[in-house]
Amino acid sequence: MARYTDPVCKLCRREGEKLYLKGERCFTPKCAFEKRPYPPGMHGKYRSVRPGRESDYAKQLRAKQKARRIYGVFERQFRRYHTQALRMRGMTGLNLLVLLESRLDNVIYRLGFAASRSQARILVSHGHFLVNGERADIPSFGISVGDVISVRETSKDNVYFKNLREEAESRSVAPWLERDLTNLRARVLRLPERSEIDGNLNEQLIVEYYSR
Ligand code: SF4
Repeated sequence: MARYTDPVCKLCRREGEKLYLKGERCFTPKCAFEKRPYPPGMHGKYRSVRPGRESDYAKQLRAKQKARRIYGVFERQFRRYHTQALRMRGMTGLNLLVLLESRLDNVIYRLGFAASRSQARILVSHGHFLVNGERADIPSFGISVGDVISVRETSKDNVYFKNLREEAESRSVAPWLERDLTNLRARVLRLPERSEIDGNLNEQLIVEYYSR
């Protein structure tokens, strides 16, 4: 399974905003974007910001890269999601976001079972979760309405999951999911609506990028 191994804080600095890729650290003064809010690289600090001069292509590219980085998806897979979204009924941009939100690693994050999507991805690939009673260790696994997600019985003895009930208490859960912290189980009530997905993603620009 390919994964991004370079420092993720660079991605926030490149996008010019906090993407919250590191969980709790993102809310502390240790956040790299708080300390160096300019693009990475030798000349990053001196790069002039000319928003009015940005081409349409540059805006579309940045919108696509930001979404890809937030969800931790590589280009080839992201393009596949776009093709899938095109074939679905309704608005392509919204379909694309719903497909990304339906990934198992994102759902684990949205349930508060992990502090970040990258942590959720590791937990999933280590086989700690079941979907409808079956082992699910593929982070991109697409969940459906009515699916029941649970922590594997043997994993509940793991220190991480022993402490999780307490830690997850302070983390919010997406309104389209139902969480049972006592039994470390959850149910997918429905698919998310646009207002329940990150507001600063511009799906229209992403669709335009792939329609060039
Ligand atoms: Fe981005 Fe979080 Fe790193 Fe800050 S700490 S730069 S929000 S990944």
